[in-house]
Amino acid sequence: MLGREHRVVLVNRSYVYSYAPSFTWVMLGRRTGRRISRDLRTLSKKGIEFEQGEVQGIDPANKRVLVGERELTYDYLVVALGAQYSADEIEGLGRTWTYYHLEGAEGLQEQLPRFQAGRVAIVVSGLPYKCPPAPYEGALLLDDYFRRRRIRDDIEISVFTPESRPLMAAGEQVGGRIIEMLSQRSIDFHANARLTAVHHESNVLHFDDGHQAPFDMTIATPLHRVPDVLVQSGMAATGGWVPVDRETLATNFEDVYAIGDCTAIPLGDGLALPKAGVIAHGEAEVVTRNISAEINEGRPIWAYGGQGACFLETGGNRGTYVSGHFFAEPAPEVTMRQPSRIWHWAKVGFERLWLWRWF
Ligand SMILES: Cc1cc2nc3c(=O)[nH]c(=O)nc-3n(C[C@H](O)[C@H](O)[C@H](O)COP(=O)(O)OP(=O)(O)OC[C@H]3O[C@@H](n4cnc5c(N)ncnc54)[C@H](O)[C@@H]3O)c2cc1C
Repeated sequence: MLGREHRVVLVNRSYVYSYAPSFTWVMLGRRTGRRISRDLRTLSKKGIEFEQGEVQGIDPANKRVLVGERELTYDYLVVALGAQYSADEIEGLGRTWTYYHLEGAEGLQEQLPRFQAGRVAIVVSGLPYKCPPAPYEGALLLDDYFRRRRIRDDIEISVFTPESRPLMAAGEQVGGRIIEMLSQRSIDFHANARLTAVHHESNVLHFDDGHQAPFDMTIATPLHRVPDVLVQSGMAATGGWVPVDRETLATNFEDVYAIGDCTAIPLGDGLALPKAGVIAHGEAEVVTRNISAEINEGRPIWAYGGQGACFLETGGNRGTYVSGHFFAEPAPEVTMRQPSRIWHWAKVGFERLWLWRWF
């Protein structure tokens, strides 16, 4: 959108980008990490400069970002540092399996073929967490995986979540349909289950109401926290997220915007806009269009409307599609399509398009 006289600089600690929606497929051996990863340095062919380094500090008053030892200056800053994973606050959480990062999904790819019988617990360890459908997709795909191996009768699958139903922000109907799908596949669903400890010696999960659940394999979401550097730079409070204007994604600092998982946008009723790539992308479109409109025409003209959609694999090469308007009043309007092969192939097509379109 901008002429060649402008510089666009992308800073990230790693030059490797991996496509998270495919991590469940990596877990099952249907994808390799290599196939779903790309080199961010190739963005230079679009004229984007890539700086590899750790963001150590942001100084919005002086329009500077400290990257390693170097200081970068900016006219406009878009903060998209995501959520930082942590396991410290729950005993034993750090030793559970997870497909919430690529290495974890690759570890499960190696481990799962050795699993012959027992109890698999899929645990949402805390709120908020990114991609609310992902734990349910994992459970449904594991059901399918063990059925294909003809050992499903020897395996119990359970999902534990602190939420009172799946995908809270999507409403009762969508949550209810997911619970129904889990039950049709004999997957136990435990709502309001707040994990307090994972005891690996005795293979028992502990919850805050005193409930205990034995397991043979636990697959958990890590705890999600705002990155430390954003607290240190005064952009977020400890235990909070970066506050933004929900339409423009402007922060409290001049010419600084924040998008994606590092932000929190309240929806009322104690709900928040889900942390998801589709949301981060929608927000990025608005912020970048507004920055270029401001540069080219002198004023921003776009507003983010809170739309979001997500594929949810249901097993057997089928999937569904959850989509809606999260800013709708009095409550978000979200619908879920009938599971079919179309949505599975749409997810496959989207993965290909995404990795081809941006790299
Ligand atoms: C298993 C799984 C499945 C998912 N499926 C979907 C899906 O189907 N649809 C969907 O919409 N979303 C999905 N998501 C969620 C989606 O991946 C995230 O919501 C999205 O990536 C958020 O984008 P972001 O830019 O805010 O953060 P990120 O993608 O996490 O990017 C943040 C970047 O900042 C870098 N960084 C952080 N701190 C520093 C620092 N101090 N210095 C330098 N670099 C730093 C990180 O390395 C990272 O590259 C899924 C996530 C998971 C884990």
